[in-house]
Amino acid sequence: MPVLSVISPSDEKQLPRIDMTSTFNAWRFIGTTSRYRVAFALFIAMLFSSLRIGAAEVPTVPEHPTTQFRLASDNWPNIYVYDDTCQVYLIRKGNSAILFTLGDGSVLDHLEEIGVSKIEWILFTDHHREQNQGIGRIDRNVTQVAAPKGEQELFESPLQFRKWRPTLGDAYTVHGASYVRPPSNAIKLNRAFTDNEVFKWNGYEIHCLSTPGHAPGGMCYLLRKDGNACAFSGGIIHDGARMSNWFDTEWDYGFAKGLDAITESVQRLRDQKLTHLFPAKGPVIQNADQQLSSYHQKLVEFRPDYVRGYPVNNLTQRPKLDPNVIPTAIPEIVQVTPHLYKFSDQLAGKNFSIIISDQGHGLLLDCGLSLSRRPPKSGFARDLNHSTEFS
Ligand SMILES: [Zn+2]
Repeated sequence: MPVLSVISPSDEKQLPRIDMTSTFNAWRFIGTTSRYRVAFALFIAMLFSSLRIGAAEVPTVPEHPTTQFRLASDNWPNIYVYDDTCQVYLIRKGNSAILFTLGDGSVLDHLEEIGVSKIEWILFTDHHREQNQGIGRIDRNVTQVAAPKGEQELFESPLQFRKWRPTLGDAYTVHGASYVRPPSNAIKLNRAFTDNEVFKWNGYEIHCLSTPGHAPGGMCYLLRKDGNACAFSGGIIHDGARMSNWFDTEWDYGFAKGLDAITESVQRLRDQKLTHLFPAKGPVIQNADQQLSSYHQKLVEFRPDYVRGYPVNNLTQRPKLDPNVIPTAIPEIVQVTPHLYKFSDQLAGKNFSIIISDQGHGLLLDCGLSLSRRPPKSGFARDLNHSTEFS
């Protein structure tokens, strides 16, 4: 049974608790294409949940939820980490340093604490905004910026990819909604790394390894020293052999292009026999080799369940894969979690979900292509909610 989780403790820390009323209000202002994305993300979440993939895992609080530098690992005495909108890593040599990711820039207020007065380079693993939103605080006369060549246009021409109304023909879109998250303003790169390029800084040789999947042109930066091998790994993996988030890997609405890319990249990383991973979210991964192997296996096993779960051109032959859902009084609807419902196998191929609050309020996502039986004209959500009493 596949075991895959997409929960990120760092994300949890930054997100407010969901309030159903505010969720309803927010929903009204979301564009149609975004609704498709959110609804599909929820469908995937339900798929994960119904397969018991990661459902029992409770996000853990980072070991050091402080806003001060600390050593990232006892095995790497010159690598520091700082908790921010993402994890910011620093390699120091004397009073100079390079950063891997930047976060919101508040890391700059803490450089003195570790005796650093100059940031010479910032290396980004991908274009995602939580990595670079503090770029406005950087003096570009002092600090140079590098990122993967495969993401250069996302850094330097972000407005091309943040259209008010994206269409299916646009780059990096899935059914008209974008799956990239470029910076708010253009960031000109001083260097754009290609696969297997080596970046040299103050005696360090940093190997650039192309690892798309979490981002279209994502890259990891590898370092070997004294028998240890580490990588600044961005969002490719979260501690616990888990996915950082699903959104960034959903590239084609269920045909697994992003999933295949990340699976291959994880295999590439696994083959490097790494001891430590320094991810953009969550704690440092200490047993990197083991976690990458485990994660790769999970991704491979998950794929057949994810790729629609039934023959693509024959929606009526979906196997009854959901032993974990609970029937309700309405045969076409099954319960996934205490508040989440979806279509049963009787309506295979039609996406639908509803979240029902404890107060009986419902949030409907997608309505499927059709209903074989017309729902009650009133009290639909109430009927569903009450149906749990009979399941
Ligand atoms: Zn990212």
